[in-house]
Amino acid sequence: MPILVMKFGGTSVADLARIRAAAEKVRAEVARGHDVIVIVSAMAGRTNELVGWVNETSPMYDAREYDAVVSSGENVTAGLMALTLQEMDVPARSWQGWQVPIHTTSAHGAARIEGIDRAAIDAKFAEGFRVAVIAGFQGLSPEGRITTLGRGGSDTTAVAFAAAFDATRCDIYTDVDGIYTTDPRISAKARKLTRISFEEMLELASLGAKVLQTRSVELAMRYKVRLRVLSSFEDTDETSGTLVCDEDEIMESKVVSGVAHSRDEAKLTLVTVEDRPGIAAAIFGPLAEAGVNVDMIVQNISEQAQGEGAPREVTDMTFSCPTDQVGRARKALEAAQARGDIRFDALEVDTEVSKVSVVGIGMRSHAGVAARMFTALAAEGVNIKVIATSEIKISVLIDRRYMELAVQALHDAFELDKAD
Ligand code: ADP
Ligand code: ASP
Ligand code: MG
Repeated sequence: MPILVMKFGGTSVADLARIRAAAEKVRAEVARGHDVIVIVSAMAGRTNELVGWVNETSPMYDAREYDAVVSSGENVTAGLMALTLQEMDVPARSWQGWQVPIHTTSAHGAARIEGIDRAAIDAKFAEGFRVAVIAGFQGLSPEGRITTLGRGGSDTTAVAFAAAFDATRCDIYTDVDGIYTTDPRISAKARKLTRISFEEMLELASLGAKVLQTRSVELAMRYKVRLRVLSSFEDTDETSGTLVCDEDEIMESKVVSGVAHSRDEAKLTLVTVEDRPGIAAAIFGPLAEAGVNVDMIVQNISEQAQGEGAPREVTDMTFSCPTDQVGRARKALEAAQARGDIRFDALEVDTEVSKVSVVGIGMRSHAGVAARMFTALAAEGVNIKVIATSEIKISVLIDRRYMELAVQALHDAFELDKAD
């Protein structure tokens, strides 16, 4: 029988009534002749609560125990979903990650799926079970410990199962009815897209659009999984939602297809570091070792240092990272200074910044996108602190209080509310 993967996010399984509504959708697909693999998230808010408990108990927590605690939300939903389906006379069985098993790396809190054993699930389907319910977000390390895949990781569990089982499609049910030109919670003018390319969705996700976890889009692109985002709160059919697909399946030809934001960014500047070969490695090496995800980097033009000692070339080095990694970054840099590996006069930290980005494959062949973006921001009086570009995106770091305004201004400037 053709296999369909259906994933339900936190708000879609927030309580027993929502689980029943999700189970109804699964039953409908079973009635249409599919065997279904259901991936469930923890009930809405549960993972945040678990993360909070871990932080309160142990701020410098052991990541293995973090995973032991934080993975548990999905276990509850998986069992409840299987029971709900059984009550509807749909033969269903649940699996936690270790039971499948879903093999992952041992990078606790951010593990990557390396393989999925099909045997146990195939055997159950062969016995006549119609639905396999899988706890999302979790797996098993080579050391035999529970791992988690990073926040939003159930999306990745879903795509990995779709690839492993050659599913007809991977449907991601959530609290919005598709992928929009920008977060519909930020701009009322956001427009739902019928299709979006893997490349653009990958950029949007990695730049903060949390509707899909970045890794899930990467996997879908690599394994050619038909990936769809749609609402669990509405009646849906074959044509609902947004399909993430290859570029050549898309009709729209806008230069910019979406605006993404990442709210909680921080900007750190090392003031007066020596400007010599190896300095960037001496700064960013220890940051990487400390697990800091450095994003944008700017190095200023070199100057002659004033004051005591022989004249030396100095510069300022600025970078951004998520706000919750500032403590780790500071520690790593201060330790490097204490070891004498780097020298700096001050470490300036600004935790009140956000990143706003425009994304579009049309940028490859159109000039002037940056100018249009900067003009729109200037017209709103938004000061740009750092700029980064790649082939299909331009990102700026700005004061957080202007984030929503910037998203809306860019959405207007690139006329994203209008279809082609
Ligand atoms: P789930 O719990 O179902 O995994 P998430 O909260 O992780 O749901 O993702 C859905 C949310 O993603 C939406 O509620 C929406 O606010 C946000 N989002 C951000 N950018 C976009 C976008 N471009 N299109 C649709 N939703 C977006
Ligand atoms: N429950 C996890 C989280 O909130 C995984 C997920 O929902 O995708 O991050
Ligand atoms: Mg999510």
